[in-house]
Amino acid sequence: MTDSRPVVTRFAPSPTGYLHIGGARTALFNWLYARGRDGKFLLRIEDTDRARSTPEATEAILQGLRWLGLDWDGEPVSQFAGRERHAEVARAMLENGTAYKCFSTAEEIEAFRERAKAEGRSTLFLSPWRDADPASLPDAPYAIRLKAPRDGETVVHDAVQGDVTFGNEQLDDMVLLRSDGTPTYMHAVVVDDHDMGVTHVIRGDDHLTNAARQIQIYQAMGWEIPVFAHIPLIHGTDGKKLSKRHGAVGLHEYAAMGYPAAAMRNYLARLGWSHGDDELFDDDQARAWFDLPGIGKAPARLDFKKLEHVSG
Ligand code: GLU
Repeated sequence: MTDSRPVVTRFAPSPTGYLHIGGARTALFNWLYARGRDGKFLLRIEDTDRARSTPEATEAILQGLRWLGLDWDGEPVSQFAGRERHAEVARAMLENGTAYKCFSTAEEIEAFRERAKAEGRSTLFLSPWRDADPASLPDAPYAIRLKAPRDGETVVHDAVQGDVTFGNEQLDDMVLLRSDGTPTYMHAVVVDDHDMGVTHVIRGDDHLTNAARQIQIYQAMGWEIPVFAHIPLIHGTDGKKLSKRHGAVGLHEYAAMGYPAAAMRNYLARLGWSHGDDELFDDDQARAWFDLPGIGKAPARLDFKKLEHVSG
């Protein structure tokens, strides 16, 4: 859980909508962590889903970050632009024997799953090509899959959640590069985080299982694994998953209501992170105090009274 490299954090939104307060808080935590340690805070736009990503959403996210006063280092990185590099790493993994060519078609995999379900067996697909003789492979399109360890366990040493263990038998040989040559999200994130020198991955805990899979890719490449910190999601005033019925969930809505950005930073910092009994702090204090052990394991709840309070 330690990383001796200079601190580099990142915010990696998918540009499919406006910046919501959950994303804004994730960005703020990464920014505070880097800025309090003379580190770098990078921005990566995860625009590989071409059907859902829009330039308007990217612009709305950048605008939200600017309004909140979170400056990033360098230019925002487009994940889509890195697809050749993602493919190159997948091919390097074929070379080093940590990945293999899988010729199973989507139809075959679907048929396998249907059969397994009907027979009450595990639907985890284990490719028959994993141990195929490289000399006798067909001349056909193939996906590149990770040759994941089949026994033992993968442990995420998480700075917020503690050690979270996944039995390797639950994790299939994930696809790194699809048969059309496009990288999967899981693979692209690891290659980008490595190439950008990211030392601390602070993000929502809906990505915790992904971390186990991503660790398997780091291990296959012999790359240094970053510190992971998975933050519990924000819940609404009733303790349920945050949605529109709880009121404003878009950062721009708070800006439009006239809340000052400094109050919003204070309020967001306190959503899931605490520093003793301190409710109000300025930016210098936030940067100096912010640390991962202060992040709670329970979901934070929206509390508009607190926002009123910090808006003074
Ligand atoms: N693009 C992902 C999201 O918006 C974040 C992935 C990550 O932080 O690793 O949920």
